[in-house]
Amino acid sequence: MRILVVDDTRLIREMVSAIIRHEGYTPVTASGASEALAILDNDSIDLILMDVEMPEMDGFELTRLIRKKHPQWVPIIFLTGQNDDQHLAEGIDAGGDDYLNKPVNSTVLSAKIRAMSRIAQMKADLDEVNLQLLKLTQIDPLTEVVNRRGLDESLERAWRIRQREQSELSLIFLDIDHFKPYNDNYGHQQGDECLKTFSRIVSDQLHRPADMLARFGGEEFVILLPNTDLEGAKNISDKILTALAGNKIEHKYSETADYVTASMGISSSAQGTSNAEELLHQADSAVYEAKESGRNRFVCYSPVQTELQAE
Ligand code: GH3
Ligand code: MG
Ligand code: MG
Ligand code: MG
Repeated sequence: MRILVVDDTRLIREMVSAIIRHEGYTPVTASGASEALAILDNDSIDLILMDVEMPEMDGFELTRLIRKKHPQWVPIIFLTGQNDDQHLAEGIDAGGDDYLNKPVNSTVLSAKIRAMSRIAQMKADLDEVNLQLLKLTQIDPLTEVVNRRGLDESLERAWRIRQREQSELSLIFLDIDHFKPYNDNYGHQQGDECLKTFSRIVSDQLHRPADMLARFGGEEFVILLPNTDLEGAKNISDKILTALAGNKIEHKYSETADYVTASMGISSSAQGTSNAEELLHQADSAVYEAKESGRNRFVCYSPVQTELQAE
C-alpha cells in the first residue's frame, strides 16, 4: 500500500512517513499541491494523508481539485491542528473521508489506515463487479459473441485507435445465405443451433487478440480486424469460406449449396473512409453485391464500382 503524505512542514512529513514505514506501508511525500498532483498523475497511490494548513493551496481546496480531476477514488484523511466541529464538516464536504489531529498518534493513524484500506478494497471489488456486469450487457446470449451494442462501442474505439496510430482497420460483414428457408424447414430451435455453430466456425478463424466477431443481428455478423489491410481481410474471408465448406452444416433447402454458406462484404479504412459508420456501410453494400453475384463468396467494397453503378 502506497500512502501519499502532503504537508508543507518537512518534520511532519518525516514523522508521519516513519510511522507509515513502521506499519509496513510505503510513504510517498509532497510538500504542496503541485507536487501532490504530479505524483497522483504518475504514481499509483492507495491513500492520501493531507495537511489542511498549507501556503500554496490549502488541503480542502486541493482535495476538491483531486476529486474533480481524478476519476479513480482514493481515500483522503486530513491532518489538522484544529479540531472544532465546523472545521471537520468543511473537510468532509470538500471530499475528504476522515481526519486526524496533530500531533499524529501512531496507534490512531495505523488504525485509520487499516479502516480506509478496507473501504478502498470494497470499492475496488465493486468497480470490478460493475465492469463484469457492463461486459455482460455487451454479449449476445445465444452465440456468446459481442452483441450490437458492444460492436458499436468497439468499432468507435477501433476507429479512434486507427486514427491515432495511423494504422489500417478492416471490417467484414457476413450474412448467412438462405437462412429463412433453413428456419422454415428445420425449425427455429435448430436455426438457433445453426447460428451458434456458425459463429464458432467463424471465430475459430480469428487468431489475433484484437480481432473481434460480433452478432450484428439475426443471421448477420461483423468482424473487426484492427491493424489489418484489405489483403489480410481477404485472407480471413477465404479461410471462413473454406471452413464453412469443411464443416458442412447441412442445408438441403439452400439454392447455393447443400450446406450453410455465407456472403461477405469487406471494407478497409485505407479507401478514404471518413468514419466508422461509413466503414460499416461500405461492407454492408459489398454484401449486397456478393448476394447478387451468386452468394457463398466475398466482395471487397470499391468506391469506383459503386460510382459506376450509380451512373
Ligand atoms: P439471403 O441469402 O438473401 O441472405 O436470404 P436469407 O433467407 O438468409 O435472409 P432473410 O433476411 O430473408 O432471412 C433471415 C432469416 O433469419 C429470418 C429469420 O427467420 C431468421 N432469423 C433471424 N434471427 C434469428 C434468430 O435469432 N434465430 C433464428 N433461429 N432465426 C433467426
Ligand atoms: Mg501545514
Ligand atoms: Mg440478412
Ligand atoms: Mg441472409
